Amino acid sequence: MSYDDNNIFARILRGEIPCKKVFEDDHVLAFHDINPLAPVHVLVIPKGAYVSMNDFTATASEAEIAALFRAVGKIAAELGVAEDGWRMLANIGGNGHQEVPHLHIHIFGGRKLGHMLPQH
Ligand code: AMP
Repeated sequence: MSYDDNNIFARILRGEIPCKKVFEDDHVLAFHDINPLAPVHVLVIPKGAYVSMNDFTATASEAEIAALFRAVGKIAAELGVAEDGWRMLANIGGNGHQEVPHLHIHIFGGRKLGHMLPQH
């Protein structure tokens, strides 16, 4: 799948759409989800043009990959969910029900999150 420059997260990265930013460095931006599914629901995205974990893991630099995962851990700690437990999740492609075609890692926390997936 080729990258769509007009996806909503590309527009957030260009500053065309506002976001409630929680973290930014050279490679990563993180912001609150617009429709939170838990008391803490933050999206962590690479600044590079990657559709999903498929192309990110295949083509991103070591620095970009390290930055994304370091950021996830740092943000979880800063949001205060590290001690009680939290969840990271990345939806990928059609079966993964990915809605926005720019790689994003969800951070959920602040309540008991239940089973990993519906059991059917
Ligand atoms: P996914 O199904 O993993 O692609 O999730 C996309 C997520 O992006 C959903 O949780 C949406 O609520 C969230 N989202 C969509 N538009 C925005 C936006 N403008 N700002 C913040 N989050 C958004």
